[in-house]
Amino acid sequence: MIKTNAESQQFDSKLALPVMESFYTIQGEGYHQGTAAYFIRLAGCDVECPWCDVKESWDAQEHEIVPLLTLKELLGESKAEIVVVTGGEPAMYDLDPLTSMIHSMGLKTHIETSGAYPITGDWDWVCVSPKRFKKALKECIDLADELKVIIAHENDFRFAQKYALLVNIKCKLFLQPEWSHSEDLMPEIISYVKENPHFRISLQVHKYMNIP
Ligand code: SF4
Repeated sequence: MIKTNAESQQFDSKLALPVMESFYTIQGEGYHQGTAAYFIRLAGCDVECPWCDVKESWDAQEHEIVPLLTLKELLGESKAEIVVVTGGEPAMYDLDPLTSMIHSMGLKTHIETSGAYPITGDWDWVCVSPKRFKKALKECIDLADELKVIIAHENDFRFAQKYALLVNIKCKLFLQPEWSHSEDLMPEIISYVKENPHFRISLQVHKYMNIP
């Protein structure tokens, strides 16, 4: 199947995907925080969160189309047991071939998505981080093992609570301060979680560790 995400950019998603960057690091956020993981950041996103910290990922045309075989080689060179596919918005692409390739290596597949597109692929862990700027689909919310809501404004607590009622009962619930305002937001988030202990706080600890 030929996937087209721009007039001038065509690729066969069975063989290659647009990748902004890939690297072996420590997962800094959410339920698996502190765990070594190989990150594949796919390029392309149309959700347009104003506070996005990876705006350079938005335009897939600015990034290389990387063969899955190259990703396989890179994964093979690391000691990663978990592969986190993030973006951008990774669910814009057919991810069946990528997850098959990762599973064929005996590795776990994790995805981080806004939920704005149907999720393809076979995932061991689904983190849905819904955004106000493009609605998360019910079929994605149903799949979530982890709900991670970014708190950039006090209204976001209500937004988080709304999604907390929609996810399945086993789903882990996280509130994460928007990085550029995290110092100002933390006191309110701490109070909120003390009042609403079904939520936990997620911090972007990789940023404190100065790692990608
Ligand atoms: S969904 Fe993620 S990558 Fe896309 S604009 Fe929002 S924060 Fe940035």
